Amino acid sequence: MLDTNKILQLIGVQGYKLRANEHPEQLENTKGDWSELESEVKHCTKCSLHKSRTQTVFGCGNKDSDWLFIGEAPGKDEDLQGEPFVGRAGRLLNEIIFSIGLNREDIYIANILKCRPPNNRDPSSKEIHLCSSYLEQQIRMVSPKIIIAVGRIAAQNLLGSDLTMGKLRGTVHSYGSENIPLVVLYHPAYLLRSPSQKYKVWSDLQLARTVME
Ligand code: SF4
Repeated sequence: MLDTNKILQLIGVQGYKLRANEHPEQLENTKGDWSELESEVKHCTKCSLHKSRTQTVFGCGNKDSDWLFIGEAPGKDEDLQGEPFVGRAGRLLNEIIFSIGLNREDIYIANILKCRPPNNRDPSSKEIHLCSSYLEQQIRMVSPKIIIAVGRIAAQNLLGSDLTMGKLRGTVHSYGSENIPLVVLYHPAYLLRSPSQKYKVWSDLQLARTVME
């Protein structure tokens, strides 16, 4: 595994300054929206995944961040802990985040689905459709300067595409009517199985950094 300090030196990472909140009164309103949305998700029974979940996995991190990472759905560890990207894949994602000069607490992380599909199967299009309004609200409230789509399911659904990861990565897309720049990364679980592909993630992160600069 590449040493993250070495990666930082190689790609010349400078520290990032998080966006300052210029209107504290808006922050209060935003917080209100967040707790309402989180409560709605917590009690959601819109699709059958509510029957098998241990708990919902809403999202975590800095709600005012410029960086929004979006993954697929909770796995076993996430379902147990109630937080996205924990376990081995989560630790690798932390290293990936660190390689761009950020910590996990500096970014916001959410998933396409808030409940775990049994046996980690792919989410169905119906489940994604029923859950989509929650993520759309999260994107609107974070209002990021860049979205990082982590893995195929996130990338294809955010971009409305059925192209392969090989074709989606390595370029800057745009999301939604606000044209938020979106960069696609291989999922850390895939990188654990195919470590030889890690260099592509470092390359895509540099692309994301370039967008932010
Ligand atoms: S996956 Fe989404 S739509 Fe389905 S029950 Fe969970 S929160 Fe509701």
